[in-house]
Amino acid sequence: MIEHDLRRRGIRDERVLSAMLRVPRHRFVPPALTMEAYADTPLPTQDGQTVSQPYIVALMTEALDVSPGICVLEIGTGSGYQTAILAELGAKVWSVESSASLHRDAASRLGELGYAGVRLRHGDGTLGWPHEAPFDRVLATGSLPNCPKALLTQLRPGGVFVGPVGRLGSQRLVRIEVDPPEVREQTLCHCSFVPLIGAGGWRSGRDQEA
Ligand code: SAH
Repeated sequence: MIEHDLRRRGIRDERVLSAMLRVPRHRFVPPALTMEAYADTPLPTQDGQTVSQPYIVALMTEALDVSPGICVLEIGTGSGYQTAILAELGAKVWSVESSASLHRDAASRLGELGYAGVRLRHGDGTLGWPHEAPFDRVLATGSLPNCPKALLTQLRPGGVFVGPVGRLGSQRLVRIEVDPPEVREQTLCHCSFVPLIGAGGWRSGRDQEA
């Protein structure tokens, strides 16, 4: 997976590649899908949610530019796979999940695998985690109609947001760097993520409007 799906498709950051080598993805997918855990494809978890495709996880992580000790807010803990990759890179991770059962399962899985230092919360992450702000990085692992202002204001100067923004079913993966008074936005690729439902996201997974 590392050589064929990540390095050959352009992931260059050795820190990201080695973090992905260390995290056992098979522990984050349902037991029936263990054999597919290292295929470059998103896999279903509970409640109609997914563990993101490894290439996309690598691309997002590379775009975040994570170095040890920096503070990262993740929105959409899901299985905890991306959370584990960020922790492997030495980041201090805060992650919010809106599904109680996914939050609970991710908390016990991450604890079992030794990622006990990550801070997990059950709730709506589309408005960030104001009490713990500011963050150096914010990563949305589900789609948003646009990047909520609340998330950008929880970034430190020089901070970076990465996430999919656009329509339900079709988004641009963007990297937004906030360097007041400038805000620079770059499109990394086109993509399709499950929606983030919440005050700063979609009203439901079926709306066409936020
Ligand atoms: N990062 C995950 C993939 C997450 S998929 C992984 O590596 O496995 C997106 C997740 O966002 C889903 O688990 C979904 O339940 C969650 N979600 C949806 N709306 C949310 C919200 N408003 N706040 C936090 N999480 C949300």
